[in-house]
Amino acid sequence: MKQIRNYVNGEWTTPKGKDGQEVIDPGTGEAIAQVPFSTADEVNAAVKAAREAFPEWRATPPVTRARYMFKLKNLLEERFEEAAKVCSQEVGKTLEESRGEVRRSIEVVEVMAGIPSLMKGQSLEDIAAGLDCVTWRQPIGVFAAIAPFNFPFMVPLWFLPPALATGNTFLVKPSEQVPLSQQMVFEILDELNLPPGVVNLVNGGRDVANALLTHPEVNGVSFVGSTATARHIYAEAARTGKRVQSLGGAKNYILIMPDADVGATVKALIGSCYGCAGQRCLAGSNLITVGDVHDRFRDAFVAASKNITTGYGLEPGSQMGAIASRRSLDRIRGLIETGVKEGAKLLLDGRQVKVEKHPKGFYLGPTVFDEVAPTSTIAREEVFGPVVNLVRARDFEEAMRLVESSPYANAGSIFTASGKMAREFAYRLPASMCGVNIGIAAPMAYFSFGGARTSFFGDLKAHGPESIDFYTDRKVVSTRWF
Ligand code: NAD
Repeated sequence: MKQIRNYVNGEWTTPKGKDGQEVIDPGTGEAIAQVPFSTADEVNAAVKAAREAFPEWRATPPVTRARYMFKLKNLLEERFEEAAKVCSQEVGKTLEESRGEVRRSIEVVEVMAGIPSLMKGQSLEDIAAGLDCVTWRQPIGVFAAIAPFNFPFMVPLWFLPPALATGNTFLVKPSEQVPLSQQMVFEILDELNLPPGVVNLVNGGRDVANALLTHPEVNGVSFVGSTATARHIYAEAARTGKRVQSLGGAKNYILIMPDADVGATVKALIGSCYGCAGQRCLAGSNLITVGDVHDRFRDAFVAASKNITTGYGLEPGSQMGAIASRRSLDRIRGLIETGVKEGAKLLLDGRQVKVEKHPKGFYLGPTVFDEVAPTSTIAREEVFGPVVNLVRARDFEEAMRLVESSPYANAGSIFTASGKMAREFAYRLPASMCGVNIGIAAPMAYFSFGGARTSFFGDLKAHGPESIDFYTDRKVVSTRWF
């Protein structure tokens, strides 16, 4: 079985910790690799390597760092299909979805190839007579990314390219559940011939995450995961004086207005709710039907949901893959049970779905609840699975009250033919990622990504322009010559 390794100071090593776990292909339920966890000493050695690599990397001209981005893009393109397969196998999503994930990752690298322009500061002459002023953006030092399971290839690549391009050195701690994609990313990074220590990979669980988080030589942390962990990361980073961007969980609301094009809306929302088997922080979860659109939308949505083929992600014809782990599957099934007990009407029960060829895989079909009470557990908690709630609202105001009452505020969308309603929705939505007639309101690599309320802790969000601010300090230099 494949052994997962660390990559520290330009060398591959096997983590020496006592703990570890098997990596399971969720589509077959079979073990495909073993990930040993790193010890505290190994984390320290990785941080030391990153710290020692910093002065030389920081002094490498931005245009040279940009050329590493071009080379990284080319290497990622060369192994594109292989990368998508690795990603699908460890997390269970379809090959098409993994291709999308790898493409989004490459786009971050492409944007960061523009670092000489992105990193430019400001200047003003004559702030006083004979006195000029400039700001420089300077890299800060050592940053770390702590990643979730659901986008094993992409999430670390939201952070590593901007951190590196701005002149910082970097450590990645992948989710222990899905360490294979980052093995591949680091094989590719190894081919870049960066100075040793500029990029480092340390495998492990929460102990490794916390060792990075509290390490005095780590200047900042980029985190993505559940809200409970995101909150902890934010608090610890504040306590230890680090920069932090901490992206948490989600519960996304979608409004379907009476004037929405039902056919187009259903098509978009099938992708939104069942893409990656609903294990996406942008997934549609509470679909609020406004006014008299409910029955028309419900019938069309349930019919389309029934047509989805659930199957092994790497097999052609599978439209929805597996749930990423046995633990997630049990949790989601438990929440479906809770929904039934709380009185929601189960129109489509994904627990009935069987994938004959892979009886040990972690499968759950599309699941639709109707008449969901807005205060019920399934309407409030993040399910992170292919479970959809239909919630009725009399009018736009009632719908907005539901949206505004959520503690989460990651993404939200409206489906309507009215520009006025769309504008009103975008204006009032508490979430930071807003869609108009779009099911997945994902900001592309040249915009920044992240939510609000308990979906995000921090100030500066992932990739795009805010990442340049996050990974740099703006130094103001005032100059006079006698
Ligand atoms: P998780 O919080 O369980 O784990 C995320 C990472 O944190 C892992 O690397 C894990 O090892 C580490 N970790 C877990 N507990 C820790 C602790 N107590 N101390 C320190 N580190 C700890 O999240 P997950 O289950 O892997 O990911 C799913 C969650 O991620 C969902 O809630 C989803 O909404 C969220 N997510 C959010 C976004 C976003 O952009 N906001 C994107 C993707 C996923």
